[in-house]
Amino acid sequence: MKCFAGPGSLFTLWKDTIGNGKAGTKAQCVKSALSVLKDGKSVFIDRCNLDREQRAEFLKLGSAQIDVHAVMLDLPTQLCISRSVKRTGHEGNLQGGKAAAVVNRMLQKKELPKLSEGFSRITFCHNDAEVQAALGAYSGLGPSDGLPPGCFGQKSQDAKVQVGIMKFLKKAEGPSPVVSKVNSNQSVASIGSSEKKDSSLEREQMPILPNAPQKEESKGKEDAVQAIDNDVCTLAFPSISTADFQFNLEKASDIIVETVEEFVPKLGNARLVLVDLTYESKILSLVRAKAAKKSIDSSKFFTFAGNIIELSTKGGLNCNVIANAANWRLKPGGGGVNAAIFKAAGADLEKATNERVKSLLPGSAVVVPLPSTSPLYNREGITHVIHVLGPNMNPQRPNCLNNDYNKGCMVLRQAYTSLFEGFLSLLKLQEKSVTKRHEEFLHHSGHGPDKNVANGDLKNKRDDAVVSISSKKSRGSGDEVETHITRPRTGNSDSGTQTTNSGMTKAWGSWAQALYHIAMNPERHKDDILEILEDVVVLNDAYPKAQKHILILAQARGLDCLADVHEVHLELLRRMHAIGLKWVEKFLHEDSQLVFRLGYHSAPSMRQLHLHVISQDFNSVHLKNKKHWNSFNTAFFRDSVDVIEEVNKNGKAMIKDDESLLSMELRCHRCRSAHPNIPRLKSHIQNCQVPFPAFLLQSDRLVRAPDSN
Ligand code: AMP
Repeated sequence: MKCFAGPGSLFTLWKDTIGNGKAGTKAQCVKSALSVLKDGKSVFIDRCNLDREQRAEFLKLGSAQIDVHAVMLDLPTQLCISRSVKRTGHEGNLQGGKAAAVVNRMLQKKELPKLSEGFSRITFCHNDAEVQAALGAYSGLGPSDGLPPGCFGQKSQDAKVQVGIMKFLKKAEGPSPVVSKVNSNQSVASIGSSEKKDSSLEREQMPILPNAPQKEESKGKEDAVQAIDNDVCTLAFPSISTADFQFNLEKASDIIVETVEEFVPKLGNARLVLVDLTYESKILSLVRAKAAKKSIDSSKFFTFAGNIIELSTKGGLNCNVIANAANWRLKPGGGGVNAAIFKAAGADLEKATNERVKSLLPGSAVVVPLPSTSPLYNREGITHVIHVLGPNMNPQRPNCLNNDYNKGCMVLRQAYTSLFEGFLSLLKLQEKSVTKRHEEFLHHSGHGPDKNVANGDLKNKRDDAVVSISSKKSRGSGDEVETHITRPRTGNSDSGTQTTNSGMTKAWGSWAQALYHIAMNPERHKDDILEILEDVVVLNDAYPKAQKHILILAQARGLDCLADVHEVHLELLRRMHAIGLKWVEKFLHEDSQLVFRLGYHSAPSMRQLHLHVISQDFNSVHLKNKKHWNSFNTAFFRDSVDVIEEVNKNGKAMIKDDESLLSMELRCHRCRSAHPNIPRLKSHIQNCQVPFPAFLLQSDRLVRAPDSN
């Protein structure tokens, strides 16, 4: 156990040493922690805390003033075992061959910590760098500093690795968890690690960090809910009427907590976050304490210190919806949140707002979709702003309620209710679209309503509804990902990819993130890029499947693939198409014989929406297999012109994500003749002069030099 008492004063009291050199007991550990906490200091408890039961004892140390954090050292099992075997002089004498067996046994019992146990923050560390980052985050805290609540860095368990380790050891293991606690003034943090043995084993310091946790699939719903956090639909909202309009903070915090309490059960996997600029803000601490008293699920509602317009980029908290404490005329300016949001969102927000409504009554709210051209959309991934107007208690302002708190409270409650209802309406919309998408997938993939689909995936669908951005299907087409093609199709935590029985994949593996990283930070990849535009990046495909093969990459956050595209993206799709055509023109200028097709893969292998612009010679060493060919020459390839039309008409594009399309027999894209293998197909298409099929000749699906038509 470790106790932090402000910078520079670190006490190490771990359980094996707490008893004056003899192995200590848990009771001694709790007692020491209590006494340190009473002194107003923070405590760091370093022990295995493998399961919920072991952690529960320490969680009881928490209170409205004392947050409990967990830092989970989820290091590779093999590493834990080998470290424990190699160590010498361990206080609990768990070392050598004996340690391996114990660690092995313990790791099998591992139960990952959850926010629902009562932690306000959980950090998962999977390697030494993350451990160091966590250490840095905690050791850098001053006496009155805190860390934001939430679950950070969790990824799925890797069943395959566990099995490997079992073989390695001829016995098998699994890692162990951790516990900790912290508060704004004092903090108790305890750590569990994969590396520990039973409850009497300790060691190793670690701390915190990363974000963007992955969704867990293999472990059942309850865990999945917790694991998704940073991809969850989130409404970030400021306290309304308390700053400019000077509403009484005690009353305002009561109203916030009561209204949140009413809405939390309706949120599904979504969450609400009350935001203020500093962690020490009075309204945040009042709300934190009151929410804790009411035992409101801290994974569904928590407070966060940060600027509402920079939560993702500066705070690592992804929120797709933010609330604006608006003025009644819904105009920029004034100050505070309203001024900041309008400024950050640019003219787009004002225009989109005015198109919907011109003014707002106190207690009401309006949901405004943020155009994808808005900097707030692109930079922070915010898709909607909900303007909300509260009561005015400030005598300096017109229409003040003159201290009439009866009326004021009523209006403030109405304001939060309108706000949360607006957010719920968005969740419902999203749920509908995901349901449809899923049905389409079942239809096109030929997956019947078998038991798994009916019981498992439809349930997922409900959860995915609020996290639709993380609902992906990954069918590789690129050999860039040869490694991924050979990966197991289920529960691969190494890649971060998890696939259900029906082939639905929930997250992108690290191999699939290259385009995403380029889109997010194009300036770091200048050498690979042909052109950087306002919201689009153009680059050569790194593994071109034809003489000319480029990608038009969207930069918008939350736009991972075609399934994420909605009518708000129509302009973007048109722009991407136009940019593609511009490049085609350039290529045709260099070689007028080329013919191009522009389109999207139904289920891309790489994250971040990208349009393929590809010449139809398919003359490339990188075109190596059936999957490559069929991903560009079956219905799996969705022509950009069709996508635009469908999104224009139906608000979404058709996704033809059928595994069988990629394994179809190899047929020439011109004459449709069948070929036994890629070399034979390639030698055929080099000479085939048959006109392209009528389907491709229609609707400008093929683009060629004007005089060649
Ligand atoms: P898709 O299956 O639609 O996701 O296609 C992804 C495309 O990205 C493939 O054509 C790959 O060859 C290409 N690709 C993969 N990695 C990179 C990279 N780092 N830079 C550029 N293109 C890439």
